[in-house]
Amino acid sequence: MKQVADGVWQLTTFGIPNLINAFVVEDVLIDSGTRHSRNLIMRQLQGHRINAHALTHAHGDHQGSSHELCEGLGIPYWVPERDADAAENPTLIGERQPDHLIARLYYKIFTGPGHPVARRLHEGDEVGGFSVLETPGHSAGHVVYWRESDGVLIAGDVVTNFDQLTLIPGLHEPKAYLSPDPVENRRSAKRLRALEPSLVLFGHGAPLRDTRKFVDFLDAL
Ligand SMILES: [Zn+2]
Repeated sequence: MKQVADGVWQLTTFGIPNLINAFVVEDVLIDSGTRHSRNLIMRQLQGHRINAHALTHAHGDHQGSSHELCEGLGIPYWVPERDADAAENPTLIGERQPDHLIARLYYKIFTGPGHPVARRLHEGDEVGGFSVLETPGHSAGHVVYWRESDGVLIAGDVVTNFDQLTLIPGLHEPKAYLSPDPVENRRSAKRLRALEPSLVLFGHGAPLRDTRKFVDFLDAL
């Protein structure tokens, strides 16, 4: 894994760097890639003590290996309140996605088994030195993680840093066919404007340090 800020590391979960990201903040693993990501993540975690696993949201490309990693590492599963039922019972993930071919395909190939949630995350909770901010829309319970002291934002899928269809780099809202409520997701994205982060870390795409681009993108929504 690659250190991207003080106490923050980026992990590759899908072979190609930046395609589907996970992060470690202090001793917490945030997101777990797809159900095929376990070995790749375990290799990158070697030598780093992990004491808990948290999600940005319960979609198959973020919770895919959560069950196996929590079991294997003997760590608790922390999930945003309104995604906790889907994290325990992933059939709900499929049921909540728009009825679209690509959403169904991703659900089938990525989603991993459910796992009991030990802690339900809420606005203002602290996770690995970051604060939880509720940003629903891309999923009912989607959250971002924000560290005000140095302006690091783990943005999940509220915004992506490549086009999810063409993979061409650049800022985008997640595809509407992958978001149960794109209108609410846009409201959540606009909420991030006021943070003026110094580093934005995405679920999909490379880290962004030229954050003027991020602010301009949100202004134009
Ligand atoms: Zn995603």
